[in-house]
Amino acid sequence: MPELKLYDPFTTMQFTDEHCFLCGTTITIQQRTPVFGEWMQDKYNLRNKELLMLDKSVTTFGQLTIPCCDNCHTNHILPLEKEIETAAENGYEGISSLDPKRIFQWIGKMYYGTLVTELIKEKDPLIMPENPVSENLQMLGKFKTFLQVLQSLRVPMVFSDFLPCSIFILQVDPTEDELPFEYQDELTTMAFSIKLGPVVIVCKLLDNGIIRNVLSRLYKLTEGRQLHPIQVAEFKARVFYAAYIFNVVPDYFIRPGKPEDEQLVLDSLIDDITNEVFNPFEPLAYAHMLEEMWKPWSIREKEILEKPQQPLTFLTDENGDLKTISRFER
Ligand SMILES: [Zn+2]
Repeated sequence: MPELKLYDPFTTMQFTDEHCFLCGTTITIQQRTPVFGEWMQDKYNLRNKELLMLDKSVTTFGQLTIPCCDNCHTNHILPLEKEIETAAENGYEGISSLDPKRIFQWIGKMYYGTLVTELIKEKDPLIMPENPVSENLQMLGKFKTFLQVLQSLRVPMVFSDFLPCSIFILQVDPTEDELPFEYQDELTTMAFSIKLGPVVIVCKLLDNGIIRNVLSRLYKLTEGRQLHPIQVAEFKARVFYAAYIFNVVPDYFIRPGKPEDEQLVLDSLIDDITNEVFNPFEPLAYAHMLEEMWKPWSIREKEILEKPQQPLTFLTDENGDLKTISRFER
């Protein structure tokens, strides 16, 4: 019989090096799993690459590990990493043919692993963070909800009619691109992006695919196309900004089952009556986001907002079709 009980470390704030991050089993401090798969660290030479943490401390991709029991490591994490590694060998086709639920779990593990690292650190009396995540009840509520669906990695779980995130897979034009790997995540907005060679995955966790729907027309335009890096950066800005103004947290409910059930079925509900799903679009805030993403091209806010109601775009032309960016345009 599979184990169908979900683990909740949030009620007692059980974030220590002696509890598996995924199932809560008591472990030794030597039992850990890397947040970033070993294969990825090797392939993109990440082991000594620096990573800025929320509390502004610096670690490396190689150093970032989280407490994990042998069972979860061997039976849940390693097979997932293997699956993504194999898919990534086949580039865009490989990644696109993955089950989106597996991509969700993979991204979710990196996201949650980074978060858990923060929460464990905040328990250290010598570390006094300015804005501790562990004291932000609203955020903790969101993370608790997130861990419910992330546990699909360990507990057989069916999502009834939703995916707990929005995933976008983009291709970069290799002749315009020199960056082998890039990684970005935002703890509070749950926006995430990772670049593996010519493939960029952009994701907003815990929105039940709403942002994917909102951006579906634009996303469709990019299908089968190799984008200029400036277009990828803009697409990321759109997703990250949508995540920033996203204003609701889904609720997940476990369907009442029978003792002999072999899996959980989760239903979901978004309360869009008490709250608007999105806060209003603000051109200036969007321009800031875009300016940040366009840093390599030094395009400033003033230029982006020359027509405030139509921020500068390299994605679509006046007919709403995908723009072709010529090699020397920028
Ligand atoms: Zn475990």
